[in-house]
Amino acid sequence: MSSLLDTFVEPAASPLLLLGQGRDLASERGVECAGALPAASDPDLVERARAARDALGDRAFVLGHHYQRDEVIRFADVTGDSFKLAREAAARPDAEFVIFCGVHFMAESADILTSDAQRVVLPDLAAGCSMADMAAIHQVEDAWDTLADLGIADRTVPVTYMNSSAAIKAFTGRHGGTVCTSSNADVALRWAFEQGEKVLFLPDQHLGRNTAVLRLGIPLDECVVYDPRKPLGGLSEQQLRDARMILWRGHCSVHGRFSERNVSDVRAAVPGVTVMVHPECKHEVVTAADRVGSTEYIIQALDAAEPGSSWAIGTELNLVRRLAAQHPELSVHYLDSTVCFCSTMNRIDLPHLVWTMEQLVAGRTVNQIVVDPDDAHFARVALDQMLALPGL
Ligand code: SF4
Repeated sequence: MSSLLDTFVEPAASPLLLLGQGRDLASERGVECAGALPAASDPDLVERARAARDALGDRAFVLGHHYQRDEVIRFADVTGDSFKLAREAAARPDAEFVIFCGVHFMAESADILTSDAQRVVLPDLAAGCSMADMAAIHQVEDAWDTLADLGIADRTVPVTYMNSSAAIKAFTGRHGGTVCTSSNADVALRWAFEQGEKVLFLPDQHLGRNTAVLRLGIPLDECVVYDPRKPLGGLSEQQLRDARMILWRGHCSVHGRFSERNVSDVRAAVPGVTVMVHPECKHEVVTAADRVGSTEYIIQALDAAEPGSSWAIGTELNLVRRLAAQHPELSVHYLDSTVCFCSTMNRIDLPHLVWTMEQLVAGRTVNQIVVDPDDAHFARVALDQMLALPGL
């Protein structure tokens, strides 16, 4: 008698879902790759990347954000944070193509700062930023109308973090504000408080609060959080009138996951450890840490660290792993093993980079990022205001 096992037939392997191949348009909207996206398992991927990069030569300039994967970073002509990369792009007017291995708002800034003749390309259009997406332009305009109705908009200066869409940067430029980075947020806020009595800080509440309280000495109770999904931002008219810092309810989904408990745990586990975190972390994490600073600050601090010293770093995992590998003389720990990579940064992988470069070699410009000219003009006003701040 035959058993069920005898008659069992191995199911045929279901076809692999290759991202960007148009197999699942519902989940991959906007990210179809015309032509063939190479498989991640393609053994010739590195060779194809080298060949395409060589073929493009000086016509292309490849930028790699610090949070990118190693497989992508190895092909970057320059690495840096979002602001440094935008400036590097602007300093290469001869490069016909700027291939931005980062996320969407960064490519927008590069498009704003480069000439009309240059084309900025993002290898995967799904590489967005959850923080930037937390401030939609219609929400910010509604909030501004609310402040105007209360008679406080003309005393409020908008300051937006670099990690925001071009439309939000343009809003800031139209209303006399400035862009800031995590390195110069204190300078930007001091400037803003010379122009007005209040600041509307977009879109990262944590960077705004940490900078206002720890660098400018503004009391915590003069900072309020504006929730765009609630009437009056979830605040009373009096709270909005009294606040000096109106913080947009946005955060980084990577840095926002570190906790105060992570800091106490690592201190217990690693005696003498120095805890260093990014200012996009929550206020209680930043105050519990020993040092706080931008990605460039963290890189420089480890470069200058005493051999043999121990560090726990609270920022994106790709960068921390790379720093640990670059500094075998240090003991570098990740602040929390359950916090992982920035998922949208990780959308840019070697297959997408190869596909992008091969398409450019073939004369097809793919995934070009083009900012609306009016937005580009006013975003440039806000970016230029930042460049005019002291110390830049
Ligand atoms: S790390 Fe955070 S702020 Fe940076 S791109 Fe990812 S989600 Fe956005």
